[in-house]
Amino acid sequence: MTIVYPIKKPGKDHVKLSPYQYKKLAEKVFDRDGWQCVDCENTQMLTLSHKIHKGMGGGKGPGDTEDNCVCRCMNCHDEEERHLNGRKKK
Ligand SMILES: [Zn+2]
Repeated sequence: MTIVYPIKKPGKDHVKLSPYQYKKLAEKVFDRDGWQCVDCENTQMLTLSHKIHKGMGGGKGPGDTEDNCVCRCMNCHDEEERHLNGRKKK
């Protein structure tokens, strides 16, 4: 028996990038934000963080666009994820 997992089709305005394009976008966003976390100004462990989370709106959000992304460190990114998941911050 074959189990088929339904794959949700993203909304038509949703941008999904290839790993190469994603890296390019990250560099652009990091340059714009000065290679530091927009929340705590940490310059280590930077990652691309979404303003409107991918999971929100069933993939109908703007997705991986320059406007929708900010430079955050892993700590703040994790905090943001936790916050979005509805769990309380410590
Ligand atoms: Zn931070």
